[in-house]
Amino acid sequence: MTVTAGVVAVQGDVSEHADAIRTAARTHDETATVHEIRTSGTVPDCDLLLMPGGESTTISRLVHSEGIAPEIRAHVEAGKPVLATCAGLIVASTDANDDRVEALDLVDVSVERNAFGRQKDSFEAPLDVTGLDDPFHAVFIRAPVIDSVGDGVEVLASWDDRPVAVRQGPVVGTSFHPELTADSRLHDLAFFPA
Ligand code: GLN
Repeated sequence: MTVTAGVVAVQGDVSEHADAIRTAARTHDETATVHEIRTSGTVPDCDLLLMPGGESTTISRLVHSEGIAPEIRAHVEAGKPVLATCAGLIVASTDANDDRVEALDLVDVSVERNAFGRQKDSFEAPLDVTGLDDPFHAVFIRAPVIDSVGDGVEVLASWDDRPVAVRQGPVVGTSFHPELTADSRLHDLAFFPA
């Protein structure tokens, strides 16, 4: 079987996510065709979607100006999976606490950009993640803090007593970058739930 994946590629890291999606698909005897999404018209063909890290203000501006935002919303309303990482999570949130980010309301969390503190601008941590047997080595880069979660949101992992991985329906969001290690288990968790 072949799954069609889309990586929102208006800005940010794309090829590592594409590799992780292909690896996760292989573990399920599937092949993934990965499209880079820069304009409207492709998302409706995708079985699963990835919103990567980068700069949330830029990603937000471009997904709206390119007409991709309503397609992403329709994808989620159809129950199809999304993995939103770091800046992607900021854009997918209900409240980014920043006027320059027009959040997409895909996952009921409020976030604060760049809020892990200067000495921890970038750090790595072994995370216990619900659904994974062994800790996940998480890389945080100017990561957002999730400062509140709505009723329908399951917290999958926390660091420093703060949620850093969440799930709501078909959407999984992480404050960290699961594509920067060879471990594709987070992509697997988001896209091929047991
Ligand atoms: N600091 C970025 C933002 O607020 C996110 C960083 C990232 O995606 N690595 O948009």
